[in-house]
Amino acid sequence: METAIVAVNVKAVRTVKNNLTFDSLELELREYAKENGVPIIIDEGLSFLESVIRIKKPINILEIGSAIGYSAIRMARAANSNVYSIERDEKMYNLAIGNINKANLNDKIHIIFKDALEAFDDVKDIKFDLIFIDAAKAQYHKFFDLYTPLLNDEGVVVCDNMYFHGLVEDISNIDNYSRSVRGLIRKLNEFHEYLLNNNDYHTSIYNIGDGMSISVKK
Ligand code: SAH
Ligand code: MG
Repeated sequence: METAIVAVNVKAVRTVKNNLTFDSLELELREYAKENGVPIIIDEGLSFLESVIRIKKPINILEIGSAIGYSAIRMARAANSNVYSIERDEKMYNLAIGNINKANLNDKIHIIFKDALEAFDDVKDIKFDLIFIDAAKAQYHKFFDLYTPLLNDEGVVVCDNMYFHGLVEDISNIDNYSRSVRGLIRKLNEFHEYLLNNNDYHTSIYNIGDGMSISVKK
């Protein structure tokens, strides 16, 4: 039997459509983030992450990088999961706590005010079904190694900003960027390689949102 080869122009159909809706608090958080330059997850990435959560139905989620609590609130609501979220910035931490109160999700979302590299003991007794990494991009490798021992069998790790505004994909202009941005792009590239060569996980890195990876434990 011959196999039909169907050419698909992936670029032409790349636009991700979704029917996300937002309640008044979520709209308020989006507005705050926009006005204050807080890098909350963009809609394309959010719709992807929520799909993963609806399929996976995690009991416990670990988030690295809460900011104002926007993604934590969305994740908790997607499948009624418990979310443990780590944030090192005091202002962000306080905003997140306030927003989680307003959302009436105190029993579901626990924000830990620490640097994520120092918060292992706070969550070490919990088994996670999903880990969402969305903090300092240069430290993704360290976050991954530190927290994946807490992942359940068949657990999933999702990372946001894997293409970092397209910079990781297109390094042709790399000389135009500051030293710190160049370092960051290099680190994210190394992390791509690390994930793709990691024999314990099936990994795909998608050009969705700002670039999202999904690693599934083998
Ligand atoms: N997940 C949020 C956005 C997070 S923005 C959302 O989509 O709604 C990234 C956050 O990670 C920032 O608030 C920053 O303060 C925090 N962060 C960066 N490095 C961190 C670290 N090492 N430990 C804890 N938080 C960190
Ligand atoms: Mg992000």
